[in-house]
Amino acid sequence: MGNGVLLDIRNLNKTFQTNKGGVEAIRSLNLRIREGEFITVIGPSGCGKSTLLKIVAGLDVAYEGSVELEGNRIVAAGIDKGFIFQEPRLFPWLSVEKNIAADLSLRDPAIRRRVDELIELVRLQGFEKAYPRELSGGMAQRVAIARALLRSPKILLLDEPFGALDAFTRSHMQEVLLDIWQQNRTTMIFVTHDIDEAVYLANRIVILKPRPGEISGILANDLPYPRKQASASFQELRLAVLSEFHGKIERQEYVDRAGI
Ligand code: ADP
Ligand code: MG
Repeated sequence: MGNGVLLDIRNLNKTFQTNKGGVEAIRSLNLRIREGEFITVIGPSGCGKSTLLKIVAGLDVAYEGSVELEGNRIVAAGIDKGFIFQEPRLFPWLSVEKNIAADLSLRDPAIRRRVDELIELVRLQGFEKAYPRELSGGMAQRVAIARALLRSPKILLLDEPFGALDAFTRSHMQEVLLDIWQQNRTTMIFVTHDIDEAVYLANRIVILKPRPGEISGILANDLPYPRKQASASFQELRLAVLSEFHGKIERQEYVDRAGI
């Protein structure tokens, strides 16, 4: 596919069939993502963010519409689509380096070299031989990210990956992730419900409406990195996201209450 479009989502609809009837999770979603973009997807709980990410990952192929990666319909999960869950999914019985290598052999010198580079990139030097139980949540998540990157994915999908971390760790993880992106230019789709996080990381912020997930708006974010949360331009963008979220309804409510 030309003009640098990596992921092309056209008229995506997703309805879950349950014994109480259909649950519409995504409606008429259109989104094109160019290679190397850092996209954040933000929306309230239950709006379909995880569903969207799972479809792009190939973990859920029962959808209507068209979802193409480099022009090919997504029909299965695979290492070309890295997925990072909220809780790091590591093998408890394997060391950090073996978790990263997983089914690849560390005895292969090329793999060994790449694993060492990734350990440095995610700032885990000195912990190569540690086991998951010895790691903090942030460190474990960095192992999961390194494991995904070792497979050189075309796209990295992150589902609220820092949601369970404390504020300090989360902020450190954002730095690490931006560092990775600036060095590797891996295309990222990062789901969050945290507005500051969305504005801090992304080139474009996709704002979803409450269920069914439908795009409410997309905001471009050209603020230079490293971004300053306290700057006026950052706050302005933050407010733009908020007002897109709340839309006219809440502002109307606010006006009504103010009038009493
Ligand atoms: P989010 O990640 O934005 O919180 P989800 O994508 O997990 O939202 O869910 C979107 C909607 O789809 C929710 O109403 C949820 O209950 C519903 N849903 C998600 N997965 C399933 C499923 N396997 N079966 C039925 N309903 C589901
Ligand atoms: Mg979710």
